[in-house]
Amino acid sequence: MRPLCLFLLPAAMLAVAAAGSDAPHSAVLYWLSYSRPGATTVHVRIEFPGHAAAARTLLIPRSVPMGYGEEPYDQFVSNVAAFDAAGKPLAVSRAEGPRWLVGPASRVEYDVDLARMEQQIQDGTDSSRVRPGYVLLVGYSVFGFVEGEESSPIELHIDAPNGWPVFSTLAPAGGSLRADDFYALADSQIVLGPAAHIATVHYAREKDAPLALVSYSEVPLDQARIERLAGEAMAAMQEYFDGSAPPPFPHYTVLLEFLKPLSDKHSYGFGMEHLESFHAAMAAADADPSALPDAGLRYHIAHHVAHAWIPKRCYGEGYFPFTWDVAPKIDTIWFSEGFAQYAAMVALAATPDQRDQMLDLRFRSSLREAPPEFRHMPLRELSLLASTQYAADFRIGRLTFSRGGLMAAEMDDRIRAQTHGAKSLRDALRHLIAWSAQNRRPFRIDDLPVRFREATGVDTRDILDKWLAPID
Ligand SMILES: [Zn+2]
Repeated sequence: MRPLCLFLLPAAMLAVAAAGSDAPHSAVLYWLSYSRPGATTVHVRIEFPGHAAAARTLLIPRSVPMGYGEEPYDQFVSNVAAFDAAGKPLAVSRAEGPRWLVGPASRVEYDVDLARMEQQIQDGTDSSRVRPGYVLLVGYSVFGFVEGEESSPIELHIDAPNGWPVFSTLAPAGGSLRADDFYALADSQIVLGPAAHIATVHYAREKDAPLALVSYSEVPLDQARIERLAGEAMAAMQEYFDGSAPPPFPHYTVLLEFLKPLSDKHSYGFGMEHLESFHAAMAAADADPSALPDAGLRYHIAHHVAHAWIPKRCYGEGYFPFTWDVAPKIDTIWFSEGFAQYAAMVALAATPDQRDQMLDLRFRSSLREAPPEFRHMPLRELSLLASTQYAADFRIGRLTFSRGGLMAAEMDDRIRAQTHGAKSLRDALRHLIAWSAQNRRPFRIDDLPVRFREATGVDTRDILDKWLAPID
């Protein structure tokens, strides 16, 4: 019932806006136009129906939500134009940071250069792109917002070339495109064009959460294999976090690209989690099962699906509300990454031995290889460093999630041992996620052992303290 209510709300508010009310939360309209096949720019138009005029500021994101880094998306924006309620053009000037002063605008428009974006942003997953018959638009790389409107509901319209399929993670099955707020719009992805492969995945939990698989590959791809692995990963994570209850999202999309490199400086393989989707720009070679076998790809998907619970819906300070111009400093990345990845390992491992092999491969190996200057940092300090350097220097990202993952494993072992197998870390995490949904605020690190004991009766505070401390 809950997702349905969320979907109905913006429509009801739109009706209010249409009636001419100045209700502070009437929907903001976004129009995205991709004019013709082969075009390398998109046009964005933002309208504020029913809003009182005031001096406004347009902001284009630089920080990537859960990317723990920044990308200069504002550099690819041009032709910013603003108009008042009567349609009269207004003066526009560039302000400090990724911002433009647009006066008492009722409408703001701009272009985004996708070709230049892809050339200059070398992490393939952070960029939108254009290929023959195909366009990927990563929400935060093309959508900006007017300051003060971040919490307004949004209605999105997309114009694509005649006959082109249009897919949005906001509504994988089609229909009107609505987002609860700017975060939800920015966190969504759009795929256009006949070269994209869009499929509904039939899997064990499809009644609880319809799963779409969108793929684009520049090499031959075994579509059935990818669908099977996505379905297995998705079902395993739902079982881990929710048991037989429905997940906290109404639908989910796995969006995978397999790309030939744009240059030798471009990198591929990172994934990015979202509220209702996971997208990754993989290297073309990874389409080959001998390069990325089933177990590796299934884990890659499960890991990012796990983030739909942690940290998208259960998080420490800094995740929400999000700061779009500068990457927020976050001291709990070890939890978001370590505990979510550990959950994916346990959800997929068929035996305790398999879990142990995964712990060794992904976590213990990072610890062994980490340089002393990072090992000797307290974990919260390392996490603050990872807030902007997570992928830029992956030694920092790896050590952050590995220390968190090993903390999770040790807590899990103790909870299982002290409850003679009746409880596990899974119960502790389910409880924390329920607490987050109810309280709608970040947890404090100090409270984690309190929540975990409420759920399991087992004290884990000394394990938390041990792993937060520097490693000799
Ligand atoms: Zn992750």
